Amino acid sequence: MPSKLPGTDQQFAGFIREDEIHDTLAAGKQASNEAVRRIIAKGRAAGGLSLAETAALLQNGDPVIQQELFDAAREVKLKIYGKRLVLFAPLYVSDYCLNNCLYCGYRRDNIFRRSRLTQEELAEEVRVLESLGHKRLALEAGEHPDACPLDYILDCINTIYSLKFKNGSIRRINVNIAATTVEEYARLKAARIGTYILFQETYHRDTYRRMHPEGPKSDYDWHTTAHHRAMQAGIDDVGFGVLLGLYDYKFELLAMLMHARELEETFGVGPHTISVPRLRPAFGVTLDQFPHLVPDEDFARIVAILRLAVPYTGLILSTRERAAFRDQLLDLGVSQTSAGSCTGVGGYRRENSKAEPEETLDTAPQFSVDDHRSPDQVLQSICQAGYLPSYCTACYRQGRTGDRFMELAKSGKIQDVCQPNAILTFKEYLLDYGSPQTKQAGEEAIGLHLAEIKNGKLRAETAEKLQRIEQGERDLYM
Ligand code: SF4
Repeated sequence: MPSKLPGTDQQFAGFIREDEIHDTLAAGKQASNEAVRRIIAKGRAAGGLSLAETAALLQNGDPVIQQELFDAAREVKLKIYGKRLVLFAPLYVSDYCLNNCLYCGYRRDNIFRRSRLTQEELAEEVRVLESLGHKRLALEAGEHPDACPLDYILDCINTIYSLKFKNGSIRRINVNIAATTVEEYARLKAARIGTYILFQETYHRDTYRRMHPEGPKSDYDWHTTAHHRAMQAGIDDVGFGVLLGLYDYKFELLAMLMHARELEETFGVGPHTISVPRLRPAFGVTLDQFPHLVPDEDFARIVAILRLAVPYTGLILSTRERAAFRDQLLDLGVSQTSAGSCTGVGGYRRENSKAEPEETLDTAPQFSVDDHRSPDQVLQSICQAGYLPSYCTACYRQGRTGDRFMELAKSGKIQDVCQPNAILTFKEYLLDYGSPQTKQAGEEAIGLHLAEIKNGKLRAETAEKLQRIEQGERDLYM
């Protein structure tokens, strides 16, 4: 196991102040409908919200105000992200784990045949993912420094970046691995990862202790300060998330925003993305064990409130949610989504193989998904809902990360590259991977979204690049 440097967790620990969160929530309950309306109006201006303002929104149950909240979230999403939606897929490389997290199929007490992909198997998984059109992956692994050390993760990253296929390659690898040391984060940075993602699961210390009874992850302070160490190591795009359903979501949201403010104050930039995973059944995990499950209506409000509270932070929705509900949530502020996900090691080869499925369960998924559509089907429905799928990875490849990305995003100039790049990368998808139905829906969508580019010179440049893509060029971007 990587040795913890003395004091690194203690240097930053303690920024989640539970009493302050409870007090802020209690005060938020007193906010009148008029006060909440003023907060929504402020949110509409896309300048973000304070903890107190977010607490007031979270506590208001008035259905008319809820509709106003949804309308405002839709407006902010359109203002900042337009109709774009970035696509990615998770890739699980190892299910060995020393931890015993009560909500996870990989937990140490679960007995199943554990595995770690060889580099050849990894290449095969990536080949399948690329053949589905993916260009951006989130690499995932359980925590086991012997079976899955950082050197192995680095080998995986190198292997993935080195693979070139007929139509392209994986252009961005985000990494979701356990909390580690500044030295190891520096090695991840040197391996050219995109975002370092780590979910806090729950910010509530007592719940955290109960959910993580054993293993290195049971150290709340070590886990909570992981993003600080990643940033100390120079990783400036980090991703947050809480596992909704472990504890009161109102507390969790305020705590996560407190975490975001802490990073902004300490390092000058907050999280690049926030994921909103909702608890799902898994091997050995049934939902009746958890009293804080989040109903759909509250989940939709969470997405909308986050959109107003942190307007420039990407919001990631996973296939934990069912298809029809996912489509509704696009409107409320989601900016990235996974598609066609497998949550077990080696899952893509198994699911896409023509062979009969194996009779015995020799692997276990980390959790069960609820959207079983293929990426192509997901894209079709994104287009039909009026959105524009994007496989763009240009910012990361041009060094527009951390505060450089945020500055560009806040200036509004990012629109000049995002919309054309979404169109260009989606065009590549349609030509190289699209089914006839998706091609039809996709070409219509491209026509509409191209016409929406207001700057005539930019529109012409995008149209010219589209032609070059049709003639066989690839990987063109602004
Ligand atoms: S959540 Fe992560 S650390 Fe916990 S058991 Fe699952 S894989 Fe291991």
